[in-house]
Amino acid sequence: MRKILIVGAGQSGLQLALGLQAQGYEVTLMSNRTADEIRTGRVMSTQCMFHTALQHERDLGLNFWESQAPKIEGLGVSVAGPEGARPIDWVGRLDGYAQSVDQRVKMAGWMETFAQRGGQLVIHGAAVSDLDYFSRTYDLVLVAAGKGELVSMFGRDAERSPYTEPQRALAVAYVHGLGPRPEHPGFDAVRCNLVPGVGELFIMPTLTTSGRADILFWEGIPGGPLDVFSGVKDPAEHLSLTLKLMERFTPWEHARATKAELTDANGTLAGRYAPTVRNPVGRLPGGGLVLGVADVVVANDPITGQGSNSASKCAAAYLAAIVERGEEPFDEAWMRATFDAYWDTARHVTKWTNAMLGAPPEHVLNLIGAAGGLPAVADRFANGFNDPADFENYFYDPEKTEALLEGAAAQ
Ligand SMILES: Cc1cc2nc3c(=O)[nH]c(=O)nc-3n(C[C@H](O)[C@H](O)[C@H](O)COP(=O)(O)OP(=O)(O)OC[C@H]3O[C@@H](n4cnc5c(N)ncnc54)[C@H](O)[C@@H]3O)c2cc1C
Repeated sequence: MRKILIVGAGQSGLQLALGLQAQGYEVTLMSNRTADEIRTGRVMSTQCMFHTALQHERDLGLNFWESQAPKIEGLGVSVAGPEGARPIDWVGRLDGYAQSVDQRVKMAGWMETFAQRGGQLVIHGAAVSDLDYFSRTYDLVLVAAGKGELVSMFGRDAERSPYTEPQRALAVAYVHGLGPRPEHPGFDAVRCNLVPGVGELFIMPTLTTSGRADILFWEGIPGGPLDVFSGVKDPAEHLSLTLKLMERFTPWEHARATKAELTDANGTLAGRYAPTVRNPVGRLPGGGLVLGVADVVVANDPITGQGSNSASKCAAAYLAAIVERGEEPFDEAWMRATFDAYWDTARHVTKWTNAMLGAPPEHVLNLIGAAGGLPAVADRFANGFNDPADFENYFYDPEKTEALLEGAAAQ
């Protein structure tokens, strides 16, 4: 059977490795950390995944935590006004539920499954020189190493990457003890709190190493009042800062968080990165070619919570392309065509995410405001997180936005 090397054991690398393994491919997975190191290490994401991405996992029988993870049935939007007011506040219902399973739980569990099923797991931080060697002994080398150093092999696609600098400073805290959400006590939702000119606070339930928890996730405009986490090393100080900023900018969320405690000492994360699309094919010094996967080739800011969704969609698309290729060579033309098929989905994510990073134009403000009185619009917007291609129909063009709002009002 064909031999495939996958570098990186994250959402895309593991999903692809387990999918190929199930089809009888001889898969080697290279990870710079063991399952235990991942499980006991720092949180990496908020990893909220919507229906289509979760379905790819179900299709491979990898939904091991589905019954334990909270079901996220809605997506709420609040906009902060002066003096703690909340002029906009609504929730849209998702057609299929979303879920967040802490990547520490999922990646560690999937890695162990891969090894138990006979997969070859190599614990090693791969360097370009390693790949040069391996590209001669494998039929295909896939680089699924996220935003790490190996991205340097893949040139930046300037036309598809409008930003050269990070657009948000990220600060995540996993907590137990958050009070119930009073607005809709009957179901769980992910809540986007928009603080104009300052940033966003996302709150969502998750399944972490200690059971059910909630994630508090600030996205701050660089240089602004939320951009204060980079020097903070003490997790307790990180949480205390998170809560202080909630009290100042989103007091309705702070009211639920007065008893919040960190899930564990590794339950915080701070960082930033520039959203970047890259050339999908990397050329090694010895002439071999490698194909980039998921974040390596398309890394968007997490403001729209799409990266893990995209990683799942990328893994599913690549899996289908590899199987369809049969015994034919995985040459450069195939690699480019495989990426192009994925980009057809990913381009919508990139366009929408980059739009959300800028100041919203008037028609988008109208849309978000009007959704409060038009449940069909709120639902449509919420379900766009599952399929961002739908935003083409009403989000970017003021005339299309107006048509949507008029149609919804007429109903
Ligand atoms: C704060 C934050 C919040 C987020 N929230 C969401 C969200 O709510 N929803 C969502 O869909 N997405 C979210 N994302 C994005 C999402 O986490 C990523 O896009 C997704 O994990 C990318 O998957 P991947 O497989 O490409 O890479 P990763 O998950 O990054 O996996 C890459 C793996 O490769 C390993 N690796 C790196 N270098 C090497 C090497 N040289 N050799 C071997 N192994 C290596 C890494 O250790 C890692 O295990 C968020 C991201 C951040 C930072």
